Amino acid sequence: MGDAGGRTVVITGGSRGIGRSIAYRFAAEKGNVIIVHYDPDESASEETVQHIRESGATAESHKVDVASFEAVDVLFKNVLSRFDGVDVLVNNAGITQDTLLMRMSEAQWDAVLNINLKSVFNCTHAVIREMVRRKGGRIVNISSVVGQTGNAGQANYSASKAGILGFTKSVAKEVGARGITVNAVAPGFIETEMTEGLPEKAKKAFLAQIPLGRPGTTEEIAEAVYWLCSNGSRYITGQVLHVNGGMFG
Ligand code: NAD
Repeated sequence: MGDAGGRTVVITGGSRGIGRSIAYRFAAEKGNVIIVHYDPDESASEETVQHIRESGATAESHKVDVASFEAVDVLFKNVLSRFDGVDVLVNNAGITQDTLLMRMSEAQWDAVLNINLKSVFNCTHAVIREMVRRKGGRIVNISSVVGQTGNAGQANYSASKAGILGFTKSVAKEVGARGITVNAVAPGFIETEMTEGLPEKAKKAFLAQIPLGRPGTTEEIAEAVYWLCSNGSRYITGQVLHVNGGMFG
């Protein structure tokens, strides 16, 4: 894989949904876009990679479970051995396993916390030393509105998304002096495969809370993420950017 010379960007959960739109947004820079996913098959990631290459950027996809510290470490060692460094890390991979707390199993708690929150530690830990050495980098973590509002049936998910905010603010304080910014984007209700499966009643309840009167698009989240990685936001760190149509914030 050649080095296109632009920024090198790693996006977890980049095969589809919000992560795919983030990958497409960065592809416009014609740098190196590296997506990580854990889909059962490669069809979505292949489509994403193809689209990015057609737009003139380099792209590669890795099927890696971001919940695994070891697998993530191996992935980033591989990436860092071939590129000058990682300029941008977007921790976007996430899942839901919704159920009321009374019915929630230990496995449901662990899966959501490991994939949504431990993954952010794993990936950030794997790049931060290199970013510190190069005195620069941008990290954006994808949280959720429910990380601050809570949501019945999502104790595991909301806890993972709230955890991301504490992590973001702490790491921002640790690495600010090295020119690295760490921020979070908290989407509201966005139309993706993740929300497709929600019961109609839950979708209606979300919509009723949105002053702008519609769900958000994956592109609208991607714009916010991209801006937090642009020069215009260089003095912003440790913040949560709400992109939710006015639902909360
Ligand atoms: P999606 O289900 O469409 O895509 C999820 C992505 O995460 C896929 O690429 C998948 O392969 C990847 N992934 C899942 N488990 C993984 C693992 N173990 N290792 C590596 N990759 C893994 O989801 P989406 O709706 O695009 O959500 C993206 C992010 O935005 C998630 O963190 C989600 O919590 C957050 N979010 C979504 C919404 C929404 O309304 N869709 C709202 C708020 C926050």
